[in-house]
Amino acid sequence: MKFYIEFNPCRECKDIIREINENIPTDENSKKFLRHITYNHTEVVQAIIEELPKKADKENFPWYG
Ligand SMILES: [Zn+2]
Repeated sequence: MKFYIEFNPCRECKDIIREINENIPTDENSKKFLRHITYNHTEVVQAIIEELPKKADKENFPWYG
């Protein structure tokens, strides 16, 4: 699952993103990125949480909304 959320990546974010782009994305580096976001970018986590149920609802109930 991919999320496209607008936020300002910090230097560490950019380092991790570059690492992911330069290598094959693995569980290891995507977990690292997720962990970093969880602890350092709570606004992004909030956006994901707010976005998730809406998407799930639309997929399961296409007539809904
Ligand atoms: Zn960051």
